[in-house]
Amino acid sequence: MKCPACGQTNMAETIREETLAYGGQSLTLHAMHGTFCSSCGEGIWDAESYRRYTEAQAGLLRTVKGDVSADIKRIRKSLKLTQTELAEIFGVGKVAFSRYERGETRPPAPLVTLLKLVERHPELLVEMRGLKTQGEATRGAAQCLSQVAKKRAVG
Ligand SMILES: [Zn+2]
Repeated sequence: MKCPACGQTNMAETIREETLAYGGQSLTLHAMHGTFCSSCGEGIWDAESYRRYTEAQAGLLRTVKGDVSADIKRIRKSLKLTQTELAEIFGVGKVAFSRYERGETRPPAPLVTLLKLVERHPELLVEMRGLKTQGEATRGAAQCLSQVAKKRAVG
C-alpha cells in the first residue's frame, strides 16, 4: 500500500495512543488502530478508530465550549446583571452575551479573563463603568473640539 501523502510504500498497521488537545483540555485515546507511513507519519485510522476519534473530538469541543458558556452565565448571574447590561459595560454588541452563553460564539479569551477577575473583585465593575463614561466624555469633548475647529475654518 502506498502512502497517500509521500508515495512511499512503508505503510504499516499500527496500534497507538492518540492525544487530542483543545482549549487547554486534552484527552488520550488508547489502542487506536490505523495504517501509518513510517516515512512521513501520515496515516489512516480504521473505521472504528476514526469514529472514536471524531466522537472524542466533538466531545472535547463541547466540554471546552460548554465550560466557558456556563462560566459566563454563572458569573453574570452572580453579578446580578442582564446580558444587555454586561454587554454595555464590556462595550460589545447587545446580543454578544446571549451568544456566548448559548455556546454559539466562542468569547474572546481576554473577555473571559476579565470576567473572571470581575467575579473575584466585583468592585472592578464600578471602575469599568467609570472608564466607559470617561471614554464617552472624551469622545464628546473631541466632537465639540472638531465642531469648534470647523466653525473656525468656516469663519
Ligand atoms: Zn508517507
